[in-house]
Amino acid sequence: ISRFEGVTMAPPDPILGVSEAFKADNDEKKLNLGVGAYRTEELQPYVLNVVKKAENLMVERGENKEYLPIEGLAAFNKATAELLFGASNPVIKEQRVATVQGLSGTGSLRLAAAMIERYFPGAKVLISSPTWGNHKNIFNDARVPWSEYRYYDPKTVGLDFDGMIADIKAAPEGSFVLLHGCAHNPTGIDPTPEQWEKIADVIQEKNHIPFFDVAYQGFASGSLDADAGSVRLFAARGMELLVAQSYSKNLGLYAERIGAINVVCTSADAAARVKSQLKRLARPMYSNPPIHGAKIVANVVGDPTLFNEWKAEMEMMAGRIKNVRQKLYDSLTAKDKSGKDWSFILKQIGMFSFTGLNKAQSDNMTNKWHVYMTKDGRISLAGLSLAKCEYLADAIIDSFH
Ligand code: PMP
Repeated sequence: ISRFEGVTMAPPDPILGVSEAFKADNDEKKLNLGVGAYRTEELQPYVLNVVKKAENLMVERGENKEYLPIEGLAAFNKATAELLFGASNPVIKEQRVATVQGLSGTGSLRLAAAMIERYFPGAKVLISSPTWGNHKNIFNDARVPWSEYRYYDPKTVGLDFDGMIADIKAAPEGSFVLLHGCAHNPTGIDPTPEQWEKIADVIQEKNHIPFFDVAYQGFASGSLDADAGSVRLFAARGMELLVAQSYSKNLGLYAERIGAINVVCTSADAAARVKSQLKRLARPMYSNPPIHGAKIVANVVGDPTLFNEWKAEMEMMAGRIKNVRQKLYDSLTAKDKSGKDWSFILKQIGMFSFTGLNKAQSDNMTNKWHVYMTKDGRISLAGLSLAKCEYLADAIIDSFH
């Protein structure tokens, strides 16, 4: 008899479980639109040229594999905060940002959650409905209470702005408000700059703390600066805020687990104390972060030629997704005889499209058409090619009707 008899079987992860099911399907028409990972037009994984060049540099220089400090690689931490806020931003100049390298976006969110649990006992995190599935797991495991604010309006397939504002207003003073900096996952719907201002107004009014999740900087619009606009707008108001960053998508470093948590404080002194406590939380969890991805980011950002090449590759990736988005819209509009308005697909931004397919319809996509996607109706356009748009349009129309 096993000592683990009481351990029950865990359910598969709603996102990563989709890839497992995809692997097991032998149909040649199969399409994996589950996980958000960029593929080429041939649907192959893509390693950025700048990443290969940075890695070659590292080999040539004979760089070692000794431990990083708990807070990570200094050159990376500097580069990542500057990419986010802009190098001349007062928060950087005044050393008001505590930046600690994290285990990509997820690990950075988790570290911040641990800090909230320890230093803001009882404080609630408000998350959008819907949101990236792992947000709830992260705060649950960190024992941080959370509740949802309205975000997606199925009637308009757009933002429920009034609902969002009302729910943020109704939350207890001093709550943390989790916001997707750009390319909201899973809906692909972002607030306009005017709406961001209003969101900042209510957050300030209620003495809440904004907590940005920035997993797609440069991937939404193709521009690093434009995609950091929301975060910079809040920082320019002198607000204290948290920002988790990820290089999984914009540098294609998914498995390297490279990202950061940034805490903007009102003084350099507070930032130094916050940083010391983030290190204290990280040490017993994983001791110190991995070096490889940190060096890649630091090398790419630190070299003007590589940096410009990166921007061009990012524009190329964002551009391919926009082309696929357009082609999917064209195919749906041409094939669908029901008169349904598909323009919401063009209004969405980033890797994903939120189709409005419900669970039963999403099941039909998979069971009948071998199209793998999450059950909330989200499809990753990064896993779609121009050549497969017509097939996907047939599958979507069949599943809707
Ligand atoms: N936040 C959001 C909204 C995401 O979509 C993702 C990636 N799917 C992440 C965070 C974190 O991903 P990673 O841990 O790979 O950086």
